[in-house]
Amino acid sequence: MKITRNVLLNPGPATTTYSVKLAQAVPDICPREQEFGDLMEYCATEITKFVGDPKDYATVLFGGSGTATVEAILNSVIPDNGKVLIIDNGAYGKRMCQITNVYKIPTVVFESSSIEPIDLNDLEALIESTDGLTHLAMIHHETTTGLLNDVTSIGKICKKHSISFIVDSMSGFAAIPIDMKAMNIDYLAASSNKNIQGMAGIGFAICNKAILETTASIPMRSLYLNLYAQYAYFEKTHQTRFTPPVQTFYALKQAIVETLEETIEGRYARYTKSWETLLDGLDVFGLEYLIDKEHHSKIITSIIEPNTDAYDFNEMHDYFFERGFTIYPGKVNNYNTFRISNIGQINYTDIEAFLKILKAYLVKINFIQNN
Ligand SMILES: *Cc1c(COP(=O)(O)O)cnc(C)c1O
Repeated sequence: MKITRNVLLNPGPATTTYSVKLAQAVPDICPREQEFGDLMEYCATEITKFVGDPKDYATVLFGGSGTATVEAILNSVIPDNGKVLIIDNGAYGKRMCQITNVYKIPTVVFESSSIEPIDLNDLEALIESTDGLTHLAMIHHETTTGLLNDVTSIGKICKKHSISFIVDSMSGFAAIPIDMKAMNIDYLAASSNKNIQGMAGIGFAICNKAILETTASIPMRSLYLNLYAQYAYFEKTHQTRFTPPVQTFYALKQAIVETLEETIEGRYARYTKSWETLLDGLDVFGLEYLIDKEHHSKIITSIIEPNTDAYDFNEMHDYFFERGFTIYPGKVNNYNTFRISNIGQINYTDIEAFLKILKAYLVKINFIQNN
């Protein structure tokens, strides 16, 4: 079977290997069979091992996109008399605020620049002046811009103030190394279709088991997206409570095997090389990007759009698309940007090929000369 490989430069779903694509084609199977329970158990345990010791941490699996998992964590672990501080420095931090707003969970928001690092002194001052704070939730890598947040330092602040720490590492997990214990993270959200390089459809919440156990008595705010209920049922049965995305799990297993082969460090090194190749090309073309190198995730780059009337994002998108590359618009207020992500099964030679097409487009709109 021949399946076309497209180079996805959007921030997930990412380009996958042939073996991951093909892993989905399996005999018909009822997910209640033991074989499938064992498959989910394998996925959960291996995902946990990327970031913690399965003795102390457990992965809770949900059918759904990444946001479903962030929503599951936020609606399940904060009691009615609790309060969460959410750091908002981009679209995904804002989404967390929308979630707690829907569930009417007491929330204080710490707004921070979408392009500069978080001011830890200001953050700690807000923590100290907020009564009854029980949780802090933030984004690890803000996919909106490519800003990498300092989760390690904020984990230390949470520990000092005895606050439970929730991190959405959707676009960091499986590339940027994470140690939940060392970083003091109680709940970590990620999904199947970004750096782990699987198919879309499964979200994971990796949880500190002892802390998760304490949430058993919190009344449910959602039936489907309840973290403890999903955890307890899976522990007992190795099944999810509701129908899982069966074929997506077979692809996830293959993606995990390939991640173990490459290693997380190896994967991040490959991504980093692609990112450096991209930045070198942008420098040659005189295109600027938003985040300075020191605070950059090396995973997605927000590029300032060429300042010429001949430029049109949709036209540029189509120009690339016809040539096998998918690119993504920007998302930051006040800045006109487009974004190039270098995750998935691509390497620096794909970025070199992308830069050739970008050059041709920039020549076409007279932004640069052909030489
Ligand atoms: C991709 C992403 C999500 C989840 O998005 P979905 O479209 O629900 O998969 C959440 N947070 C961050 C930081 C992300 O990059």
